[in-house]
Amino acid sequence: MLITDKNNKNKLYNKNHKTMTNFKDFEVWFVTGAQLLYGGDAVVQVDAHSNEIVKGLNESGNLPVKVIYKGTVNSAKEVTAALKAANNDTKCIGVITWMHTFSPAKMWIHGLQELRKPLLHFHTQFNKEIPWETMDMDFMNLNQSAHGDREFGHMVSRMRKNRKVVVGHWQDAKAQAKIAIWMRVAAAWADAQDMLIIRFGDQMNNVAVTDGDKVEAELKLGYHVDYSPIAELVAVQDKVTDAEIAALVKTYEATYDFADNCKEGGKDRKQVIEAARVEIALRRFLEAKGAKAFTTNFDDLAGIDQLPGLACQRLMAEGYGFGAEGDWKTAALYRTMWFMGQGMPKGCSFLEDYTLNFDGENSAILQAHMLEVCPLIAEKKPRLEVHPLGIGGKNDPARLVFTSKEGTGVAATVVDMGNRFRMIVNQVDCIKSKALPKLPVASALWIPQPNFEIGAAAWILAGGTHHTSFSYDLTVEYLEDYADIAGIELVIIDKETTIPSLKKELKYNDLYYMLNRALQS
Ligand code: MN
Repeated sequence: MLITDKNNKNKLYNKNHKTMTNFKDFEVWFVTGAQLLYGGDAVVQVDAHSNEIVKGLNESGNLPVKVIYKGTVNSAKEVTAALKAANNDTKCIGVITWMHTFSPAKMWIHGLQELRKPLLHFHTQFNKEIPWETMDMDFMNLNQSAHGDREFGHMVSRMRKNRKVVVGHWQDAKAQAKIAIWMRVAAAWADAQDMLIIRFGDQMNNVAVTDGDKVEAELKLGYHVDYSPIAELVAVQDKVTDAEIAALVKTYEATYDFADNCKEGGKDRKQVIEAARVEIALRRFLEAKGAKAFTTNFDDLAGIDQLPGLACQRLMAEGYGFGAEGDWKTAALYRTMWFMGQGMPKGCSFLEDYTLNFDGENSAILQAHMLEVCPLIAEKKPRLEVHPLGIGGKNDPARLVFTSKEGTGVAATVVDMGNRFRMIVNQVDCIKSKALPKLPVASALWIPQPNFEIGAAAWILAGGTHHTSFSYDLTVEYLEDYADIAGIELVIIDKETTIPSLKKELKYNDLYYMLNRALQS
């Protein structure tokens, strides 16, 4: 169930909305490695086969981004020209390479040195099965990726360049699914390269884990983090009209159930109106800035009626990155994970490890936040409620209350380890949650893999945050691709995790990053 009321939203706000996009604006380039050893005729056939492969990929219906065939490259000059062109093309979010014939890899050195776009090496072959009876040397000269792709792979490894290697026949849906994952990640990577994150207020005072090096984040991850005084938002808020608020409250009424105190004539109706006012102001402000993500801080709300809860929930559902208490890293990661998962059915959210439930094998962690949980993960229609909030000293805030779907998902975070960013990803199993009649927040309930004890201990040992970006639709593979493209450390906590091996991994990683930095300087 999609909670956002698209028609209303479009009518009210989306007139000049530039921040939201989708995959049709992007291209992935397909470059085929070949050589002239077997004469021009062979290359003509390589070219025809490549065309057919690209056509097949595009017509499979399994790829979210269009593949554009860029021809064969037969010399160092051609390789370098193709990869430089990929760098400079704004639509191109990544390059797929495939060596139809043996493509001597020294000719790839200069091009690969230049390439700054994500790289996928597709180890496939035009011909599916060996034609045992008819195979001759002409056939062999044309179906050489078995060794040609190894020659290419050696060079990429020798250059220590991260890339995704997908192995499979090009018509196989399993291979296509892996390409599709990488495409979504490459698109989210492109999106992050001009991501502006607006912070209202700073980090919650004294909190370490959500803080970090914003300069390094821009160098490594691409996004830019800016600060805006809350007074600037107040100025926008003061210009919001009653008619705009009335229209938005109508949208709320069409989309959610309402608690009695929130209905027309109810004692907290005014709080719903104030929530709508701040939502309109926030969206307008972010649109004017061209921002894709934002953070709030409950200690920095002068001139705002209430801590924005409902607004943050609804903006997250539209794809705006959000992090509470100044948590810009989670805001960025949420936007990136939302972007990867566009069009997928179950949703994603910013979440916080809230409280523990010890219950033997079903021991679980309640996931919630005081207000800001994205309604995309709701199991059924959310309920709009207004209640007091014992923090921040403002008026009672409006929020959507719901429990979340069951099923597997991934929780992810990025922490700053001082000399590098570490992404931690935990596969989790969301189980049936119960209503919280005295705690009016939206929530989910999950058991971390491989189980509660090991999963939680591993997360803590890895230095993970209490805030996460969570998705039902993504798998670890998406975040693995992301960490590879970004070139950041990745710690996976899943069914295979044991504490002794994790401890060793963390120590080895420390050594790796220490040496890496020393070698670079
Ligand atoms: Mn929090």
